[in-house]
Amino acid sequence: EQMLKTLKSYFGYTSFRPLQEDIISTILQKKDTLVLMPTGGGKSMCYQLPALMMEGTTVVVSPLISLMKDQVESLQANGIIARALNSTNDETTNAQLYFECTQGRVKLLYISPERLLSEINYLLRDIKISLFAIDEAHCISHWGHDFRPEYTQLKTIRKHFPDVPVVALTATADKITREDIIRQLNMRKPEIFISSFDRPNLSLEVKQKEKIKTIVSFLRRHRNESGIIYCMSRNGTEKVADLLEEEGFHVAAYHAGMSNEQREKTQDDFINDRIQIICATIAFGMGIDKSNVRWVIHYNLPKSIENFYQEIGRAGRDGLPSETLLFYSFSDIVLLSKFAAESNQQGINMEKLNRMQQYAESDICRRRILLNYFGETMDHDCGNCDVCKNPPERFDGTIIVQKALSAIARADQQIGTRTLIDILKGYATQEVLEKEYDKLKTYGAGRD
Ligand code: ADP
Ligand code: ZN
Repeated sequence: EQMLKTLKSYFGYTSFRPLQEDIISTILQKKDTLVLMPTGGGKSMCYQLPALMMEGTTVVVSPLISLMKDQVESLQANGIIARALNSTNDETTNAQLYFECTQGRVKLLYISPERLLSEINYLLRDIKISLFAIDEAHCISHWGHDFRPEYTQLKTIRKHFPDVPVVALTATADKITREDIIRQLNMRKPEIFISSFDRPNLSLEVKQKEKIKTIVSFLRRHRNESGIIYCMSRNGTEKVADLLEEEGFHVAAYHAGMSNEQREKTQDDFINDRIQIICATIAFGMGIDKSNVRWVIHYNLPKSIENFYQEIGRAGRDGLPSETLLFYSFSDIVLLSKFAAESNQQGINMEKLNRMQQYAESDICRRRILLNYFGETMDHDCGNCDVCKNPPERFDGTIIVQKALSAIARADQQIGTRTLIDILKGYATQEVLEKEYDKLKTYGAGRD
């Protein structure tokens, strides 16, 4: 009752989202807690509400200064005393902040991981800390897709503050990452909450060819609807934007090579529906809360399912039907494999790419693959992906495969696909005759 009252009076919401209530009461019992919730699920509330209900200050570790700023501003707009401690503060701001903190007035203190470490024996000693909330907790793990070395230092929190409960939150963590977070933060018998990653309103589709032509007809079906086209490179965003302009669409590009001013303007135009289509690198979308994005297209293959899931997750936040389309090409695999091989996490990155490729090549329900990646099992096909809508035809290929394998074995595994077909079909090509494959028992075995 008290929780609901606090929710209403500070945030004006009348009910909790799925899992929020259980998570908050667990935190209020001072238990360590791990929260996995997809973006937009309402993770922040899970520590903001306890912060208001507990005595002392909740320290929130967050990796992105821009997100920190947004959160602090919206909390302040709700009459909550929240402050941010990061490298952009000037001396005066900091002096004021230290004063307010030591007076016990600040309910939520957002802090960057670097700052947390440098204050661990200073400011943090002088305040009563009710809770540590580690946002984007997957950054702590090498296994995660967004590893940040400074996050690994958060191990020391437990040592310095053994009695303060810790809540770790993330939108993307597979099983290994999850276990790594718990281990590294030295969490004590944490309660783990995993909300479903299923977003049934997002349709899933993969295509391989004629990218621009396909996109043009896609866009004609989606006139006046907002959407994002993700490209692998800066060049790619501009090239695709130009091609679509030629087709009569009004498109803006967005990438890290543009000035801050340009980028902010583009983002602002998109949020306020002055521009419908953005061609962007993955730099676009971080922390954007726009509910009516109706579609997301991947012009190139993402390097992992986490990335893919996060990017398509920007569509359909309002719960209305939205479309996603992924283009899959062998050249992307070649390039991404090269990046993975050159990275300092070769094994992991190659494996993540493999899983992405399996999604793209799947001939079973794609949502099953996606959810399975996040450790969820689905007991039915989704009916809202291209495989479900247009299932591949199946037949018993045992005999055919036996013939093919037999031919391969008899040719001492020295042949490529084309020669194999020639042997099976019984074509007397130059190579077949030269190597005497026409004498094999399987020569012509696949004529029918
Ligand atoms: P996440 O961090 O999981 O991506 P946020 O914490 O930013 O998600 O929440 C997404 C949106 O949902 C925010 O606008 C937030 O105010 C809203 N929200 C959170 N909890 C509730 C609730 N119980 N009822 C209604 N809206 C909520
Ligand atoms: Zn499906």
